[in-house]
Amino acid sequence: MPAIPFFKDATPREIRLMRFFVAANGAVVVFCAVYLVRHYFDVGLRRPWLMLALLAGYFVADFVSGAVHWGMETWFDERMLGRAVSIAREHHTHPSHVLLYGFLERSSFGSAPSAMVFGPIAVATSLLPVTALTYASMMVWFVVCLCMLFGMHFHNLAHRPARFAILRLAQRLHLVCPPAHHWIHHRQQTIHYCVVNGWANYPCDRLQLWRALERLISALTGAEPRADDLAWQIEFRQTGILTAPRRKGSEAEPVADTQPARYAGRLAAGGMP
Ligand SMILES: [Zn+2]
Ligand SMILES: [Zn+2]
Repeated sequence: MPAIPFFKDATPREIRLMRFFVAANGAVVVFCAVYLVRHYFDVGLRRPWLMLALLAGYFVADFVSGAVHWGMETWFDERMLGRAVSIAREHHTHPSHVLLYGFLERSSFGSAPSAMVFGPIAVATSLLPVTALTYASMMVWFVVCLCMLFGMHFHNLAHRPARFAILRLAQRLHLVCPPAHHWIHHRQQTIHYCVVNGWANYPCDRLQLWRALERLISALTGAEPRADDLAWQIEFRQTGILTAPRRKGSEAEPVADTQPARYAGRLAAGGMP
């Protein structure tokens, strides 16, 4: 295992952005928690319903992790999302490298979309009259944002041997995404995108949701699914250097461009999963 993953260096701007999104998502979690505590006795939701809302939140969190994962791999490239895309591409060619990124990378991956989507939804929910439904909805948003704060942490647990018996039990019970379940995604990269507990993979893959969305988006925009991901993988197979093909030109960013070359030797020795 190398000591440094390929895209470890972040620019000061990237660090500021990651901090901002992690803080923003943390603020949404706190906002939801304060609402839930404040209105707990007003609503008086019974325990079975509370449990149901928590479970629904845990399912939705898994689905959201899958949607973010699918979106990143299918439609985005470095020009749109920068280093986040590089790290996602690296994860397909060198799965274990993901364990070597720091807390900011692990937390900002899920926090950015979570804060941008569920922040406004949570605020809108808080403006509605307090009812059992709005309370249960807020509980779902709370669980989703909390899980997205740790989304990549959940994912990374599937890439290393579980140190604690309680975690092994949670993975065996599918309460946390089991490694064998996640590795199906690494063998066949167009399924099993959901990484929190893997529950949403069953309906999403059975119903071919991601393919249906791809057909719809392609029809509306003309964009080709996974074009950027495939270009990275072809470039890597042909040159042994993990980089977006278009970065070879003069438009390349100096830091991002030199880094893959620096590790080209290691990359060539790495290989596909
Ligand atoms: Zn993985
Ligand atoms: Zn993937």
